[in-house]
Amino acid sequence: MITREEIEDREITFLAPYAVKSKFTKGRAHSEDEHPYRSVFQRDKDRILFSASFRRLQYKAQVFSNFEGDYYRTRLTHTLEVSHIARSIARSLRLNEDLSEAIALAHDLGHGPFGHIGEKIINECMEAHGGFEHNRQSLRVVEKLEDIYSPGKGLNLTAETKQGLQKHTYRDSDSKVPISHATLEAQLVDIADEIAYDSHDIDDGVRAGLFHEEDLHSLTVWKEIVGRIEDKSYLVNSYQRMRLFTRFLINDQVTDLLDESERRLKRSAIRVLSDITTGKEPIISFSQSMIDKKKELKAFLYKNFYRNTQVMNIVDLAESCIKKLFKYYCKTPETMPVYFYQKVKESKDLHRIVCDYIAGMTDRYAYEKHKNLPI
Ligand code: MG
Repeated sequence: MITREEIEDREITFLAPYAVKSKFTKGRAHSEDEHPYRSVFQRDKDRILFSASFRRLQYKAQVFSNFEGDYYRTRLTHTLEVSHIARSIARSLRLNEDLSEAIALAHDLGHGPFGHIGEKIINECMEAHGGFEHNRQSLRVVEKLEDIYSPGKGLNLTAETKQGLQKHTYRDSDSKVPISHATLEAQLVDIADEIAYDSHDIDDGVRAGLFHEEDLHSLTVWKEIVGRIEDKSYLVNSYQRMRLFTRFLINDQVTDLLDESERRLKRSAIRVLSDITTGKEPIISFSQSMIDKKKELKAFLYKNFYRNTQVMNIVDLAESCIKKLFKYYCKTPETMPVYFYQKVKESKDLHRIVCDYIAGMTDRYAYEKHKNLPI
């Protein structure tokens, strides 16, 4: 049997000098005995994976709701894609794979029902009460709401995993800490997230008929990849070509990211972990040429996918659902499950607790609940 100490020693020998090592973790908020054969980051990822919030991701929308079709990514399958892309990057750069995986598995735990549309509506409901943002909620889930160990202690994750979740907020919200100061394990998860959704959204969009293969022909990434598919004499129909395109698209982005990150590591002054906190630019990054191609891809997705009327159809449903639930539970908190009602009585922070309850709901649970409200 391999002991935890042996796993820790292996990390010290094998990982890059600037990788996070489990032996030197900053630890947990509430001290615990070490596990005999799992490192701290292995335990973190297990805690996340076995949590109820993680299981609920399977019925939370990525873009499409679960009831719109079985093919499309859900928040859970998106999370799994992110964690696997993150692991490949971490392993290749000799970074801590377990830590990156833990951050990836937890990165979307704070998402409410109906994806980003749902997030916007919950934020509107919470406007006068501190707002709502899914990254901050992810942290709240692991620090407070998932208290299977003891009340109020959350999953008691390591400081490094929690810090990774905070850093995830930088790119699209209000964290004041620059991404370049995040551990490389956290930086790469942020990009793995983007690689996953930029790629799978093209696949899901075509499958849903929101746009067609021909619409992609003007994109630089399409021209480059299809050229290679044809060079290799793949005998493909349109469906197979799309599958190959998605596969190549992920691979190209990861390869570019590894090459550019390695270039940046070489020219930077980063030699040990503590050097990262003084870095001026993010180390984990695409090349300028890939950044340009992705800009084009994102603009395409924004116009043809995220703003598509079929996708936007869910806005009305999400809005009436969430607003009704929010109003109802604020008026009658005693009708929430005992766990949440108890919190209302203890904390007096009614709106935040109602927000926690609703943000934890899956799309279908929110829909069913709102349908059966006695108002
Ligand atoms: Mg994500």
